[in-house]
Amino acid sequence: MRLLHVRLPCRKIYPAGSVYLADYIYRATGAEQRIIDLALIDKDGRKKFLRREIERFGPDVVAFSWRDIQIFSPDHGDRSLENAFRFYYSPNPLVKARAALAGISSILDYHTRIKENMGYIRDTAKWYDGRIVVGGPAVSVFPEHVIGRLEEGILGVVGEGEHVMTKIVEGVENKDLLDERVVFKHKGRIYRGEKKRFVKAEELGPVNYEYVAEIFPQMKEYLGEYVGVQTKRGCLHRCMYCLYPYIEGKVVRCRRPEDVASEISQLHHAFGVKKIWLVDSQFIPGRTYVPRCIDTLDAVIKEKVDIEWGGYIRIENITVALAERMLRSGIMQFELSIASGSQRVIDFLTLDYKIKDIFRACEKIKKAGHEDQRILLNFSLNAPTETRESLLESVAAYKKIEDVFGEEHVNPVIFFLGIQPHTRLEKYAIEHNMLPKNYDPLSLSPRSIRKLIYNPPPLDKVIARACLRAWQEVDRDQVGKYVMEHLETRLNGGG
Ligand code: SF4
Repeated sequence: MRLLHVRLPCRKIYPAGSVYLADYIYRATGAEQRIIDLALIDKDGRKKFLRREIERFGPDVVAFSWRDIQIFSPDHGDRSLENAFRFYYSPNPLVKARAALAGISSILDYHTRIKENMGYIRDTAKWYDGRIVVGGPAVSVFPEHVIGRLEEGILGVVGEGEHVMTKIVEGVENKDLLDERVVFKHKGRIYRGEKKRFVKAEELGPVNYEYVAEIFPQMKEYLGEYVGVQTKRGCLHRCMYCLYPYIEGKVVRCRRPEDVASEISQLHHAFGVKKIWLVDSQFIPGRTYVPRCIDTLDAVIKEKVDIEWGGYIRIENITVALAERMLRSGIMQFELSIASGSQRVIDFLTLDYKIKDIFRACEKIKKAGHEDQRILLNFSLNAPTETRESLLESVAAYKKIEDVFGEEHVNPVIFFLGIQPHTRLEKYAIEHNMLPKNYDPLSLSPRSIRKLIYNPPPLDKVIARACLRAWQEVDRDQVGKYVMEHLETRLNGGG
């Protein structure tokens, strides 16, 4: 049995999901596999490359992995949010007009990207007579929307793929997979399977990177960048806007510390990797996981690897002992999604932490020996129930943390909540008539895009204008600081 994993084009990010999946399938079934990554191929040559690889390898199954279908992602290098804000909030008609044109072009770009990825799957389905599977975050979030737009028989996989792909490799048909998280179309009707159990991460064992390098020759193009390693799956929290618990499950499943350390050691010693990104939805999901985090980092330290690492980290339960291990094992930045400085807003978003515990945790990190590691503070401004006072509390929280680590090490990063399917924020927006009940999450009209970014009146203008000024006046890495300072002045009645 031959299985070809095809990563559909997206930003150049190491395909950790496909690597873990392929390693598991190899150990479970011995299937012959190959991984190809279309993100590394020039757009013009992708279609030809894909066809050539399928013809050359002759797989029985082609498994596409689709990372993001992001309708509107205000992330690095994507100016969509900026254009939208210019269009809706700039007082200057000329700026508005320019932003409208740029906005149309980025919407077209999203259309093209979605169409392009659908095109690779559809095109393959036309001439290839083996089985086609599509998985990855895009399918997990929008299963019916993706499968509904594809040919009958193509199987969508929601969430982790280890169990279901093993069954597929063993020849189990779509209709017999309804005890897995799958979705497929048959005679025009969409079928969805349900699954009650998840992969036991403890039993995964370390990835064999020698094998991975053999089946994924393009891996070498990632060795100088962040390579993803997973220490656990799942998240027990219920943050109002987050999809991770839906995708990975609410039960946290930890991997064995020695397996994680073995992977980092192989990557560093055999392949020269120096940067590791922990792809866990959350590295410290709760107090009970602190000892496991310590054991994992102790095992990594024992491997004598000269690496720097990062990941998503909640710090409210951090101890000095854990912070010491984090610093000693090479953490280069603490990315803290604190969302708001107001306990009322934090509670409304059900983020499950106390702001006073965050301040205490910062003191512990400092005490453990923090020197020049960056502290990124992710704020989601204008969240539901935000007021002028709560915004000022966020500014105050940022300043308090700055006092602990020093101004030069702390950077606030401004976000707006995106409304995503399967979240309570989506439910809230529908209940409060911000979104129609039957809205299409893949609609790309400027009106619907504006609604999917949560930034309602009356505070929308003051925040958006602060962002517009910041984009105009300072470097990208200073935008957060500028916005916080500007908001403080404006909300206190100044400038
Ligand atoms: S802690 Fe992080 S991963 Fe978990 S629900 Fe909250 S935002 Fe999502």
